[in-house]
Amino acid sequence: MRKEVEIKVHPSDIKDEQKVLKKAARKCQLHPKAVDEVVHLRRSIDARGREPFYRLRVAVFSGEQYQPEAAILDGFQSVSDAREVLVVGAGPAGYFAALELIEQGLKPIVLDRGKPVRERRRDLRAIQQFGQVHPDSNYCFGEGGAGTYSDGKLYTRSHKRGNIEKALRLLVEHGATSDILVDAHPHIGSNKLPKIVANIRATIEAYGGEVHFGTKVTDFLLRDGTIKGVIINDKQSRYADAVILATGHSARDIYSLLQQKNITIEAKPFALGVRIEHPQALIDSVQYKQKERDENLPASSYRLACQVKERGVFSFCMCPGGLVVPAATAPGELVVNGMSMSRRDSAFANSGTVVAVNEEDMTAYTDKYGAFGGLEFQKSVEQTVFQFGTGDQRAPAQRLVDFVKGKVSTSLPKTSYIPGVYAAPLHQLLPDFISKRLQHGVQQFGRQMRGYYTQDAVVIGTESRTSSPVRIPRNRQTYMHEDVEALFPCGEGAGFAGGIISAAMDGQNVARAVERYLNSTT
Ligand SMILES: Cc1cc2nc3c(=O)[nH]c(=O)nc-3n(C[C@H](O)[C@H](O)[C@H](O)COP(=O)(O)OP(=O)(O)OC[C@H]3O[C@@H](n4cnc5c(N)ncnc54)[C@H](O)[C@@H]3O)c2cc1C
Repeated sequence: MRKEVEIKVHPSDIKDEQKVLKKAARKCQLHPKAVDEVVHLRRSIDARGREPFYRLRVAVFSGEQYQPEAAILDGFQSVSDAREVLVVGAGPAGYFAALELIEQGLKPIVLDRGKPVRERRRDLRAIQQFGQVHPDSNYCFGEGGAGTYSDGKLYTRSHKRGNIEKALRLLVEHGATSDILVDAHPHIGSNKLPKIVANIRATIEAYGGEVHFGTKVTDFLLRDGTIKGVIINDKQSRYADAVILATGHSARDIYSLLQQKNITIEAKPFALGVRIEHPQALIDSVQYKQKERDENLPASSYRLACQVKERGVFSFCMCPGGLVVPAATAPGELVVNGMSMSRRDSAFANSGTVVAVNEEDMTAYTDKYGAFGGLEFQKSVEQTVFQFGTGDQRAPAQRLVDFVKGKVSTSLPKTSYIPGVYAAPLHQLLPDFISKRLQHGVQQFGRQMRGYYTQDAVVIGTESRTSSPVRIPRNRQTYMHEDVEALFPCGEGAGFAGGIISAAMDGQNVARAVERYLNSTT
């Protein structure tokens, strides 16, 4: 017999397998000794009542053996002699596309402008400690893409876009904890992600694919409306039967290249704002209603949203127990984002807090720059904030209440942002339509979540790379660019993903589309 049931478990019992088994047995009206195995299917925390508890969905096996699914990698075969497909970008979209190409019997040749995941670390240290931003190796560029040194949240609402479970299982087969298959809000953490990313590369290579670093795509090889290959680092040509373009939302040079080549790109709505950081203990006490967090509960998170003057204001990419990091991709700009370690054990909770930016907000930019309007607007905010500062990656900051009151803070609380912060009139540095809405929005958040609106919270600028301000359009059925045969825009940079898992799933979908295309052309 296999029966699925839901049980409530107190945090102090969550690691006690016997107690969980007894609860599950009781729910199935079985004697505990009659239960052979209890398999966890789903785990979430319910903190709505007086005290938080875990909700577990489990499968109870009695007189029947649990049969785990075969590994996806067991079905892989060598593709060393297969048709070649270029995959530009080794982020989640590019790497998951490469894995899927192998499954489809095609040979991926992955090209990335950055460095292998471990070497990337040195460049991240240079940004953190000396404010030096390497234009090809930073928090967005390099092996694993923007997803590597991140919070590693794997939650997505894009359920219709692909097979989430397959993406998660592949991560587990490359070293992630199997908890991610069960947790309602799975996450990996920046200390574990690099090893997983390196393992994915090892799989690609073991099955005959190739991965090359320091290979920036600088031009496309086009003939009669078809892409035949790319130029790498302005000198080397590389040909293939199809090209997957998965360069992420920060590859501005790729958008310029597309424009130069008269390949259609479109402006796309995005969001822009700030990071707001609170003491984690404060968020825990609000969310869990406990003075001190139970040791069996994770650092708590929040998700807040409201409307201000017909525009969404919302928290984004919340990192419990995390750090605010400098995520610029070129010198002369200031961009912040958030990451965390697997234990999420820093003393801080941060989240992007952003305002939706629509076309009508930037008509001055779109009139001048067309499809590049949003991108130029984004760039101008990042540069304005940088130029106000000290010429390095120290970030302007304001206590939350001071930000709302339009006052420069006389002192700032300790923050997790390693390059450091300085007091500045952030409310004036941001475009008026953004800062005014943020000022109203955070007060509403304070009413939704008591304790949120406090002088102990600090606002850090700017959170500008929430998603791509540009879309590279593609056909809905073929996933191919309408203007260029064999060119497959993919992932967040193309405007078809907004996070690690949705980018990974887009990579898988695009790889299958490439297989269909190549099948139809043989
Ligand atoms: C600090 C930080 C934290 C984040 N935290 C989370 C999180 O917790 N959860 C989540 O879901 N999302 C998070 N994100 C967002 C997530 O990382 C992205 O949505 C995701 O990585 C997009 O995947 P992608 O493969 O489409 O693009 P990217 O990950 O951006 O990868 C693009 C790749 O293309 C390469 N490239 C660019 N131009 C070229 C070129 N010309 N030639 C060759 N290669 C090129 C880059 O080096 C890069 O490796 C975070 C992002 C950042 C920056």
